[in-house]
Amino acid sequence: MKHLTRSTWSVLLAPLLFGGLLCSPPAAAGAQKKKDTPVPLVVETVDPFSDENLESILNEVQPLVEAAAGRKFKTKPKLVLSEDVDFPGLITAEMQWILGEVMPDTPELMRNNMAAQSGRSMSRHVLGKYGLLSKEVYLPKRLLEDVPSHIEVDSERINDVLRLIIAHEITHALNDQHADLPAQVSVMIDAEQLTAAGGVWEGLATWVEGEVARNLGLKELFWKLNGLQGWGPNGLENVSAWDTWAKYGLGRDFISHHAASGTDALWEPVVDLPASTSMLFRPDTYSSEAPVPPRNYNLALKGVDQKLSKGDWMISNTRLGEVDLRGETIHDESNMEALDAMLSQLVWAQQLDLMRSDREAVIRILEFKDDTGPKQLFELLRAQRKAVNQHASAERGVEIEVITEPFADVEADDAVLRIEKIPIGNGRHIERHAAWVVRGNTVVVVVSERFRPGLRTGWTVEAVFSGLDAL
Ligand SMILES: [Zn+2]
Repeated sequence: MKHLTRSTWSVLLAPLLFGGLLCSPPAAAGAQKKKDTPVPLVVETVDPFSDENLESILNEVQPLVEAAAGRKFKTKPKLVLSEDVDFPGLITAEMQWILGEVMPDTPELMRNNMAAQSGRSMSRHVLGKYGLLSKEVYLPKRLLEDVPSHIEVDSERINDVLRLIIAHEITHALNDQHADLPAQVSVMIDAEQLTAAGGVWEGLATWVEGEVARNLGLKELFWKLNGLQGWGPNGLENVSAWDTWAKYGLGRDFISHHAASGTDALWEPVVDLPASTSMLFRPDTYSSEAPVPPRNYNLALKGVDQKLSKGDWMISNTRLGEVDLRGETIHDESNMEALDAMLSQLVWAQQLDLMRSDREAVIRILEFKDDTGPKQLFELLRAQRKAVNQHASAERGVEIEVITEPFADVEADDAVLRIEKIPIGNGRHIERHAAWVVRGNTVVVVVSERFRPGLRTGWTVEAVFSGLDAL
């Protein structure tokens, strides 16, 4: 899901799947079709999902993965059909652990609810998954069986599909054996680095998968599989697949760049993760060193969530990087130059992502070199006004009403309020209120979804500016 100002929850919850992700899961339709298919008269002699067949594919693919990555497995990866285990439970447990590591300050019950929710939905949307804690590779037979028909290839090519999916998944195992993924998660700086890390993890797996595909003459199939995720050889194909493309596609380019200088260069960013997502766009700027904020934005944001709505929140406090900032603006390709100009003026972006069962919110600080940055941002916002409506509607498949008006609740050099009304069926809709407020070289953004903050939006903006002034 992409908004003009989005929260990074998708980033926190989705990238750690270490899986082959399906962008538009065809599971339901596929399952339906399957029921009507008559039982074949001639039974294939080899069940593609039998232990013997999977083992023989693994034996074929494993050395190709090692050759591409330039590293050997320390332990042979183990393949398991996800139908044979409690797959949703497994993803939930992994997600619980991850959230505990990256958001230790959030109440445990909230984290667990969130993990359970995503465990259920994610388990239906992946074509393969490496278990971060169990160290096993899971293959969802029911979803995989339908892949050949979804990518319009002969059903007998299921073995080729399995070759590529297995190559991808065991690369995550290889990555873990040489870079210790749980240890990397434990020392993650923030959600921004997590997104960058996702680009490395999925980028490596996708790059190696591509090399194996080339070796086996399966490059066409490789691109068809990635097409299911909404991206292809020319980049993003499906506008709502930005986050997926950033990890798998952009990440693959990042790895490819480093791989061109040899195996050691390839593994350097895999072992010492890049600090920021800007490096995915410009691989030559890679550095694992965390940038130092010019001011203590965390202090300025402390407690401001309570101005917006009292009570416990799941809180993620993160730098905001290029994947997120560009992701908000891909609505309009013609804005790219203006976006580049604006981003080059940006000194720092920090964001609080807030979530509880009945509401979500975002509180953001954007600090620019001088007051031209905010002006460029507001030009972009206003230029996008028309496009927003169409794109937001197209993305969600429903007609979304967008109202933009001046925001007069606080003193400002410029301020705008945008209200989106998103239908959720039965004549009901949810509301999303977003206020952008400029003072000098700083923009404060407050977004609330599924609740009406009323005057509280202005109070929150004021609290953030006061916090900044007090630094
Ligand atoms: Zn993966």
